[in-house]
Amino acid sequence: MGAPADHLAEAFHGLADHLRFLQALGVKELPLSREYLAGPGGGLRRLEQAIEGCTRCKLCRGRRTIVFGSGPAEAGLMLIGEGPGEEEDRQGKPFVGRAGQLLTRMLESVGIPRDEVYITNIVKCRPPGNRNPEPDEIAACGPFLDGQLATIRPGVVCALGTFAAQTLLRTREPIGKLRGRVHAFGAIPLIPTFHPAFLLRNPGPQYRRLAWEDMKLLRREYDRARGG
Ligand code: SF4
Repeated sequence: MGAPADHLAEAFHGLADHLRFLQALGVKELPLSREYLAGPGGGLRRLEQAIEGCTRCKLCRGRRTIVFGSGPAEAGLMLIGEGPGEEEDRQGKPFVGRAGQLLTRMLESVGIPRDEVYITNIVKCRPPGNRNPEPDEIAACGPFLDGQLATIRPGVVCALGTFAAQTLLRTREPIGKLRGRVHAFGAIPLIPTFHPAFLLRNPGPQYRRLAWEDMKLLRREYDRARGG
């Protein structure tokens, strides 16, 4: 266990990250309540309040719900996809439907229960026709993802699919080249893998084998981040 001074420094670091996020959203005054200082859980609740009714980009026009994210605020692993699909938009939860069920099985195949991880997307509203999010939409929604990362402070991030991996790593390399290794995402190890919807569209053993390799790599980094 670290020294009390280390814990205090970490808490102030997290608070500073969160204040930068609020500044990016244009917040000028803060009600300093008990909830505000209540750790990651309180931080996530503040973020959900901040995103309510968001009209920062044009994706607000076609959405039914804002799909903020799901999972524990203390999660050591965060999974990030590109954006909500039709079913997610309907239910307000990320990775539901067939792709979500496959994701759950992929995690369980390496002994990671889904309810142990935090799952979200680059943009929180469904792009029309499931197209890729556009640069202005990613920029507008970016502070929310930054806020989730700063609040949860995961030990490992997994990027699901080409678009999420390319956006987070700021590269144009295809997923086939990015997957299979650990990347640096700031100070956090990031592991890219295929989007489960892609695996459903390409059910052959070739991609399943590669996805399994990625899951084992994810498990290894997750254990390492937890000091295992
Ligand atoms: S995608 Fe993000 S920035 Fe755009 S309207 Fe939805 S919540 Fe707001």
